[in-house]
Amino acid sequence: MIPLLVPEINGNEWKYVKNCLDTGWISSAGSYVNKFEEMIADYVGAKYGIACMNGTVGLHIAQQLAGINSDDHVIVPNITFVATLNSVKYIGATPILIDVNPHDWQMDLDLLDKYLTENTYYKADEKGSHYYLKSTSKRVKAILPVHVLGNIGNIDKLQKIALKFKLEIIEDSTEALGSTFKEKHAGTFGKFGVFSFNGNKIISTGGGGVIVTNDENLAKKAKHITTQAKVSQLEYIHDEIGYNYRMVNILAAIGVAQMEEFPFLLTKKHEIDAFYRFELKNIGDIEFQQVSKDVKSNCWLFTFKTKKMRELLLYLNDNGIQSRPFWKPMNQLVMFENDIYVQKNDNSSKLYESCISIPSSSGLKDIEMKKVVSVIKKFYTSVEDIKNN
Ligand SMILES: *Cc1c(COP(=O)(O)O)cnc(C)c1O
Repeated sequence: MIPLLVPEINGNEWKYVKNCLDTGWISSAGSYVNKFEEMIADYVGAKYGIACMNGTVGLHIAQQLAGINSDDHVIVPNITFVATLNSVKYIGATPILIDVNPHDWQMDLDLLDKYLTENTYYKADEKGSHYYLKSTSKRVKAILPVHVLGNIGNIDKLQKIALKFKLEIIEDSTEALGSTFKEKHAGTFGKFGVFSFNGNKIISTGGGGVIVTNDENLAKKAKHITTQAKVSQLEYIHDEIGYNYRMVNILAAIGVAQMEEFPFLLTKKHEIDAFYRFELKNIGDIEFQQVSKDVKSNCWLFTFKTKKMRELLLYLNDNGIQSRPFWKPMNQLVMFENDIYVQKNDNSSKLYESCISIPSSSGLKDIEMKKVVSVIKKFYTSVEDIKNN
């Protein structure tokens, strides 16, 4: 079976992990954690990085530190991995789900602008000046853009909307390490950006995340509440309810080694993307995700649209090629079916019915890529044959 996405472990991972084991620095303090945070922050051009257990808790902490609470609405795209929306629910905030564009599969910002214009009112009081949703009287506090599959939507437009409606931007850039919009990195467009280093992401620590920010005060707070909010070196004194969310040194050691290899892994992702786009162009009814000329995607996971998605999915998995459908849209999951979903054409469900992801690991061999393509071509040829007979 050619796997969908597996980590590529070819650098100093063994050496650095061994160093942790040899020195006993395996847990939540140690030099690799600081090093990894620095490497991520430096790479994306943010001032601070705070390493945590995974991307999901990173999103949770970022929202808490942005002052989001249970009186607030948070705007989220309807197509994302469930963790984004779960993190909003951890905070107790109420999501507003926004449908996505049919071309780049990112949040439909025109739809959002129209919705906020028609459905909110402005109020200034001792809590500050904010926009409130007419139907709930809750403050619309933040927007969580998700850079779906490493692609990025129109950030200029997003920032304009955020400014107009006084929204904090917290980027779910978990899939988008290495992606840029007008040469600026994903994760650096708002108050916080959050990266994930789960096993299937572009680099991995097994499980892990890093929150990035340019705000020194928020960076300190993030570190503080992810380490049980302990205020004394010597004594067990804590000044608020904290979390045990810190990344451990042994995983950060893997992260440092992965980051050293990152330029090669990213290049490989671009090569895989270019190969698939070239080979699959004009095959059957295949349509690709559109990437704007302002965006350089990290090409995290190759995904395309076809009306034959269900049949192709079975065919590929039966022929030794692991493939997956897209995430089920958030509004269709039982936990979220009563949440507000703003849509005009329900592009989310159309994408869900037609998108399929194919093997995209950085370690994918040429012979494997060619096999993937040839099996897909064979599928469409046999579909055509059936039609012609
Ligand atoms: C992977 C992912 C997350 C969560 O990251 P974990 O590290 O697995 O907790 C959140 N949002 C999106 C869009 C993701 O792809």
